[in-house]
Amino acid sequence: MKAIGLLSGGLDSTLAVRIILDQGVEVEALKFTSPFCQCDRKGRCYSAEVAGELHIPIRTLVKGSDYLEIIKKPQYGYGSGVNPCIDCRIYMLKKAKEYAKSAGAQFIFTGEVLGQRPMSQHRRAFMTIERDAGLEGKLLRPLSAKYLPETEAEINGWVDRKKLLDISGRGRKKQYELAREFNIQTFSCPAGGCLLTDKNFARRMKDLLKSEATITLPDIIILKTGRHFRFRRSKIVAGRNKNENDILRKNKKETDYLFEVPDFGSPTVILQNEVNEDAIELAAKITAAYSDAGKGYVAVQYGLRLEKMMQVAKPDKENIAHYMI
Ligand code: SF4
Repeated sequence: MKAIGLLSGGLDSTLAVRIILDQGVEVEALKFTSPFCQCDRKGRCYSAEVAGELHIPIRTLVKGSDYLEIIKKPQYGYGSGVNPCIDCRIYMLKKAKEYAKSAGAQFIFTGEVLGQRPMSQHRRAFMTIERDAGLEGKLLRPLSAKYLPETEAEINGWVDRKKLLDISGRGRKKQYELAREFNIQTFSCPAGGCLLTDKNFARRMKDLLKSEATITLPDIIILKTGRHFRFRRSKIVAGRNKNENDILRKNKKETDYLFEVPDFGSPTVILQNEVNEDAIELAAKITAAYSDAGKGYVAVQYGLRLEKMMQVAKPDKENIAHYMI
């Protein structure tokens, strides 16, 4: 028997893999990544580490532009941020289903726990997700299996239901006990890895969704970078350090204006969408405000290639704060 397990690198999915492996089933892990995934910051990929420790192969699938479409208009709505968790699970499981077929796997399992998350991990959501992913009766959730109807894997005897678990609710005591018992030490943050659940990021994302008909990957990269300001139809983004300045330069559109204060420590600032006189002046002021230039009039370079120069009075940051998204 072979199974595909969704492995985020968190404790629940790690335990689920371990439980299925202990039943003598061959497991291949599937990990999904997207620009909203934060678990792998600083280059550490927990899923790959977990897979390595459990000696199983792992395949990474990227949530692409089709996923951005889901974020724009999720059928089942958002959670506390702009996290379309039910649609997101359906999306991942559809991909997992395709992958399982090509990999010759008999079933798919996840580390989901009944009642652990308010939006996507309750009984009705489980059923909706299974149905819309085309996996009715075929998706095994080993950690909560005893609270759920028998799946094909149990009915066919591919796994022994008696050895599956009855975990439910938001507490994680049982999972930590099992981690100790199995000597599992590598796993990532529980649930903290998705930027779409972050309230500050959600505000920016909603602003973007309101103002842009088409969203691209560079838009998302810029969304994660710097300070963001909205002025009518114009958007101004200011880098907070050299790394962010480089990201903004690299991902800006050809039509975006650049701003910098020469001869002083300066943010790189980009002006997007509507470029008009008022927006240029505000972007120049924001550049001056966050530069190391002293008070008074500050020379700001600007233009598609910083080919122009203007003087602006450096404002106090408080006076531009109301433009911040
Ligand atoms: S928290 Fe993020 S990655 Fe997880 S299901 Fe929700 S939208 Fe998808």
